[in-house]
Amino acid sequence: MWRYYPELLERPVPRYTSYPTAVEFNDRVGAADMVEALQTVELDTSISIYVHIPYCQSICWYCGCNTGAANRTHRLSAYLEALESEIARVGSLLHGRGKVRHIAFGGGSPNSIAPVDFVRLVDRLVLALNCESADMAVEIDPRIFSDNWAMALASCGVTRVSLGVQSFSEAIQQAIGRIQPRHMIEACMTSVQRYGIGNINFDLMYGLPGQTLADLEDTLKQAIELAPSRIALFGYAHLPDLVPRQRRIDANALPGSELRFEMAALGHALLAKAGYQPIGFDHFALASDGLAKANAKGKLYRNFQGFTDDDSPVLLGFGASAISSFPHVMIQNEKNPGKYRECIASGTLASTRGVRRSDDDRSRSAIIEHILCQREARDIPEEIVASARTKLGPLEALGLIEWDERDLRLSRGALPYARIVAAAFDAYRQPGSSQFSNAI
Ligand code: SF4
Repeated sequence: MWRYYPELLERPVPRYTSYPTAVEFNDRVGAADMVEALQTVELDTSISIYVHIPYCQSICWYCGCNTGAANRTHRLSAYLEALESEIARVGSLLHGRGKVRHIAFGGGSPNSIAPVDFVRLVDRLVLALNCESADMAVEIDPRIFSDNWAMALASCGVTRVSLGVQSFSEAIQQAIGRIQPRHMIEACMTSVQRYGIGNINFDLMYGLPGQTLADLEDTLKQAIELAPSRIALFGYAHLPDLVPRQRRIDANALPGSELRFEMAALGHALLAKAGYQPIGFDHFALASDGLAKANAKGKLYRNFQGFTDDDSPVLLGFGASAISSFPHVMIQNEKNPGKYRECIASGTLASTRGVRRSDDDRSRSAIIEHILCQREARDIPEEIVASARTKLGPLEALGLIEWDERDLRLSRGALPYARIVAAAFDAYRQPGSSQFSNAI
């Protein structure tokens, strides 16, 4: 169903978890903008919350997240203290306004902290913000999971967990510095299911060092056997200049562009055959899963966590590097956990950079989101159509996209090229940027 056009995939493109992307953030936006943005939240504004735990028990070589080793108890407890202060500070600025609909804990590994500390953090959120109707999701490292953790998650009302799986192949696990036998994944699943948490996501990867199509097929089959309700299949992005820890990965063993393309196509075909509905370009969900239901209703969105059913206009990010998003501005916290703690200790918020969104940004953001989520965009403003149409000429000639005046539709075969179509609407992108990964 998918055809490989190497010339289209040559240019690195953003993943568009936001527009403008984080590359456009600058230090002309900071704590004062965050205070001002919080004042725009009204009593009934839906809010989504993201809490970042930038620590892991051990660091995987492929990981591009903002995380470090959780090997110093003092550092961890100082960070949690700062998080609690930040939550309280934002809570007092909101003063009861806004309704929290979703809470997500990510990292790093949220379960690198003690279960009791997690419970206390949730408690702080509930005390500071209006969280009565919020659902909660947590990223989990299965290698350090325990029944105590499952109990803590259930007692806090967590409804979804996301497990970092990546690959079931032992050889590939060695090559990426993450040893995790299948029994650890199974034990983790059994444990959360025992406590009533049935919504489970697996993160899997293709394009890993030494990985073959047969390896990927075996991983996908094992994942399907374990039947998580959702699977995200990401292409590994090898950017060692930006992510120094990736230098441990043998670049010579990485699959080339055509093999990566075949891997993405294999994943799509196998998961769809097994009953997982394709969501956007890298997520798959069983029909019973909230994401599949939202997708069927045309209510799929894109935020910093990828494809989502969350349409909250306000996202509040807590912790080092976490990003808050408001309709007119995006603001990021200090990335370095030590400096983040210093900001909070000095009595201010830790917001240090960001970008204001102009009307043009918001218009382009909506177009990009529609392209990635619905494979179409309608009523595109005339002035945007003109330049995008020229850029997309080669894709139109190949039948991957179709224009009907100001409406744009992507064909089914255009899915692997969706990020490239989106990039044609990005006013900031210059050809040749190496800060992004390939579309596949
Ligand atoms: S456990 Fe997850 S967040 Fe931590 S280093 Fe590995 S991939 Fe990155």
